[in-house]
Amino acid sequence: MSELWRLTAHEAHEQLRNKEFTSVELTQSVLDRVAEMEPKVNAYITLTAELALEQAKEADAKFASGTATPLAGIPVAVKDLIVTKGVRTTAGSKILENFIPPYSSHVYENLRRAGAVMVGKANMDEFAMGSSTEHSAYGPTRNPWNTGLVPGGSSGGSAAAVAAGEALLALGSDTGGSIRQPAALCGNVGLDPTYGRVSRFGIVAFGSSLDQVGPIGRDVEDVATMLQCIGGHDPRDSTSNPEPMPDMRHYLGRDIKGMKIGVPKEYFIAGMEPGVTARIEEALATLESLGATVDRSLSLPSTDHALAVYYIIAPSEASANLARYDGVKYGFSDRSGPTMWDNMEQTRAQGFGNEVKRRIMLGTYALSAGYYDAYYLKAQKVRTVINNEFAEAFAKYDVIVTPTSPAVAFPIGAKVDDPYAMYLNDIYTLPASVAGLPAVSVPCGFSEGLPVGLQIIGNFFDEGRILQVASAYEQASGFANQLAG
Ligand code: GLN
Repeated sequence: MSELWRLTAHEAHEQLRNKEFTSVELTQSVLDRVAEMEPKVNAYITLTAELALEQAKEADAKFASGTATPLAGIPVAVKDLIVTKGVRTTAGSKILENFIPPYSSHVYENLRRAGAVMVGKANMDEFAMGSSTEHSAYGPTRNPWNTGLVPGGSSGGSAAAVAAGEALLALGSDTGGSIRQPAALCGNVGLDPTYGRVSRFGIVAFGSSLDQVGPIGRDVEDVATMLQCIGGHDPRDSTSNPEPMPDMRHYLGRDIKGMKIGVPKEYFIAGMEPGVTARIEEALATLESLGATVDRSLSLPSTDHALAVYYIIAPSEASANLARYDGVKYGFSDRSGPTMWDNMEQTRAQGFGNEVKRRIMLGTYALSAGYYDAYYLKAQKVRTVINNEFAEAFAKYDVIVTPTSPAVAFPIGAKVDDPYAMYLNDIYTLPASVAGLPAVSVPCGFSEGLPVGLQIIGNFFDEGRILQVASAYEQASGFANQLAG
């Protein structure tokens, strides 16, 4: 019964049901692994070991009474911008270092209803701004495949926890790539749902028209199961889609014969690492061998503009969302100054890190009178052009396949002082985010010993189809349940 942390969630579920071990034993195995790995990886900001064992006991009761559903008793990591009642939620920021939420997010409520066990709150770039998890006020997370490298970000703690065996599954959030890119760099499956599929109630806001919570797991089946659990309508989020959630499991293990796959030329740029290009080409050949047609004549000419559009819209929304951290309502507060204004200024000066300040300044500038039309309004118009190009493509193709990231994991410190180099990490993930489309990253092999990710983008609310392609590809390639160590 050793090394239970190596199991996928669905394997663990089977064995829990067959009474081969209990959730308390499974959770203890994960907690032991956490104790071994955390000094090297730093995947968590807050560990909730005691709570996890209590929740595991409750899950064991569900198994005893025959009421356990697939996530019951499964140890998960929860990104630290997901509000959890009674458990500190920092969003990776000093400004929330003492924030104990009085309520829970929709996604955490759903996980708890399903009986999942929370191991802890996963590390992240401050307010989800970043691609390396180096912008955390709680120290960087390290990539379990090589601890000199970043795990990607901003959900780097979630992805590293899953890859290191410090959780079987995780929740991340994606605004411009923050689930898919770390999943790619850590060898996991990560899915960014359609905007509106998963309620944002109780999610610390970054870019409200872009943010979505989604699953990171060791294989496609686990990711489908978690999406099923967190998705669906929630009246507390006015952007939540009222359509009922279809059965995601229906799409697993089906063939993809005759499926039309578009591969956009603009995603194969100079500067892409040769090892990444090679793995993507092999993956495309695999998809073809499964009976899909792979058409490389697709062109999405505005792909290039997605980065500029994103870095106007996301900081603009962030500058408004982050105005609430004023030292009065939440967490950290410096009250040493002579006036309220001094205190507010000091609270924000000390409470926010440099990247967050940079985004607030960019966003405030882009929204200011005189510049609003030139930047924000223009960006919104180009956003529509990007949407229209995708809409035309989905009239012809079932899914669009691209690399997830142009490069494998890079050294800690390599890009942290060069914001533009850091922003370029997301060139392949930003377009789908800007359009609000669902996309999944699946492992497609290794380059220089480090994981490479394949991105599958779908039409609105077509998560089922991208999971179908991901599942068929995973079965053919065998790249499932890749653990570092
Ligand atoms: N890396 C991008 C950024 O820094 C995307 C982050 C995200 O998806 N949360 O904004």
